[in-house]
Formats: sequence, C-alpha cells, structure tokens
Amino acid sequence: MIIIMRADSTEADIEGVLERLDDSGYGHHISRGEERTIIGAIGAPDGEKDTAAGQLSVLPGVERVVPILKTYKLISREHHPRPKPVMIGPAQVGGGHLAVMAGPCSVEGHDQMVQTARAVKDAGACALRGGAYKPRSSPYDFQGLGVEGLEHLAAAREETGLPIVTEVMDVRQVEGVAEIADCMQIGARNMQNYGLLKECGGAGKPVMLKRGFASTVEEWLKAAEYIAAAGAQDIILCERGIRTFETGTRFTLDLGAIALARRETFLPIVADPSHATGVASLVLPMALASTAAGADGLLIEVHPRPDQALSDGPQSLTPAAFSDLMREVRKVAEAVGMTV
Ligand code: PEP
Ligand code: MN
Repeated sequence: MIIIMRADSTEADIEGVLERLDDSGYGHHISRGEERTIIGAIGAPDGEKDTAAGQLSVLPGVERVVPILKTYKLISREHHPRPKPVMIGPAQVGGGHLAVMAGPCSVEGHDQMVQTARAVKDAGACALRGGAYKPRSSPYDFQGLGVEGLEHLAAAREETGLPIVTEVMDVRQVEGVAEIADCMQIGARNMQNYGLLKECGGAGKPVMLKRGFASTVEEWLKAAEYIAAAGAQDIILCERGIRTFETGTRFTLDLGAIALARRETFLPIVADPSHATGVASLVLPMALASTAAGADGLLIEVHPRPDQALSDGPQSLTPAAFSDLMREVRKVAEAVGMTV
C-alpha cells in the first residue's frame, strides 16, 4: 500500500507512520517530494492488509492510504489468467457458450414447473431456474414452497433433463438445497451474508452469486472470494441491477460491471435483465445488450401465466415472448462469436 502524507505533515508524523509500519512487519520506501512525502509499504503480512490500511489512515499527518494489492486472489486473473467455464449439470456456462437459464421467479406447483421447463427447453434454455425459498420485501408476501418447491424442481428436471438453479437464503437450508440443486443461487440481498457464503462454498455444488444492489464490483468480487476460499471451484457471478435514482425501471442494469468483472476475474458472468428492469417489455433489449457486453449467460424469468404469478409477474415473460427473446439473442450471440 501507499501512504500519502498531508502537505503540512511533520517529521514526527512521518516517523510515527514508519514506526507503525515497522511494528506491523512491513518494510518501507520513502519518497520526499517538494510538496509532500509518500511512503510505500512493502511486504504485507498475510491477512493484515485491510486492517493495516485502516489503522494507518487515522495516524497524524496521513492524508490517504491507497491499497495496491487486491483483496481477492483465488478468483483473480492473476490466479487463473483465462476465463474458465463452469458446468451446471450438463450445461456449460462460459467458454464461448451463452447459457440461458430460465424459469419462474417462484416455484408455485408441479404443473407450473413442468410446463415452464418444457417451454423454456424447447426455446433453447439450458437450465431451469425457480425459487423454493424466496427473499420477499414483505413478510406477508408469498415466501416460497420450501422443501415441496425443491421437489417440484427435481420433478421438472426429471421430465426435461434441464439442470436446476435455485436460491438458498439461510445456512440452515444449504444442506437440503445442495442435495437437489445443480447450482445454488445466493441472492442479491445475501451477497454479504458471509456465513452463508462460507457454507455454500463448502457444499460441493456450483454457486451463482448475485451482485448486491448496493454493492460495488469490488465488494461483489470479495464476496465471491469468500466462496472460493471455502473450497468452491465453480462460481458464477450474476449482475442483476443496482439501485440508482432512476424509478422507471426497478433497478439499473450495470453493463459496465460485466466488462469490469470480466477484466478482473476468470469466473463466468451472467446477466439478469428481468430483475434489473422489472418490466417484461424491457427484458429483451437488455438481454441483447448484456450479450453484446460479453455476458456468459442470461437469467430470465418466465411464467406460463405472468398475470397469475405469485411473485415478479410484471417482469416475467410468457413462453411465447421467451421464444422471441431467444431468437433475437441468438443473432447477437452469433455476432459476438458465441454459441447458444
Ligand atoms: C430471484 O432470482 O428471483 C431473486 C430474488 O433475485 P435477486 O436476489 O437478484 O433479487
Ligand atoms: Mn424474481
């Protein structure tokens, strides 16, 4: 890290910083400019970086501490230079293949799941999504069918062969979800639930980590690092929109985050234009934009009767609209050299 001293810092302030660095096991390099002094801290002791940066920044005479080492390693391009695909059952996510995962927001019943699974498979989806455990803003809204929902997902997989992606909200659900799911989803609201990240990372199944809607890309990547540090090899990132001042859409799809995360990590990155826009008619254009921006896959909400959906009906596509989306997405995918 680099410690930038204030222009009015004294020799005693500088000495204080150097002493602290020495006590914490760092070497240093000083550069004394005409305006100010800059101190480079060398040889960070493991696990100390964030703590030391925070402590140094409050010492007298310090203007700012700039960390230079990344706080994510296992998921970084330095660790693995090339993008690496992840398999969800038989479906490949990444590696030049656009993986489209589709299905309802909530699992509502056996027939709804089987019907949706057949429809999205016919249209070209490679995985079925659906929540058995639902993070709802109000405790009075439909909370999901729980274990029964997992059974409907398994039945739909049995019928169609599509692997299933489903959310886990609580450490107590991890074992049960890992038993059935081909990929465990950690939702936006739980992106920084570190206990859950660790538990999922050790559960032996691929994990899809959604970006928190008020989290930076760096925080998202650090959260993914937790999962990797707990032992998971197969992690997928999902950009699902962030909170901005815009109210015309539910969230704002951050396409720049896809490009930035791509630069930083080898993990596959998928986009969720359904939650990002919250409006069914906006899902297609943002699915196309995500594909053009380099997403490795799409997460699309599809319901046989959006007007009867128990959650997220306004952003859910009918099977016919999903078919149209797939037709258009194929064109963009082909243009950027991907298969669907
Ligand atoms: C979902 O996928 O249905 C969901 C709740 O997503 P998010 O966590 O992105 O809001
Ligand atoms: Mn939803």
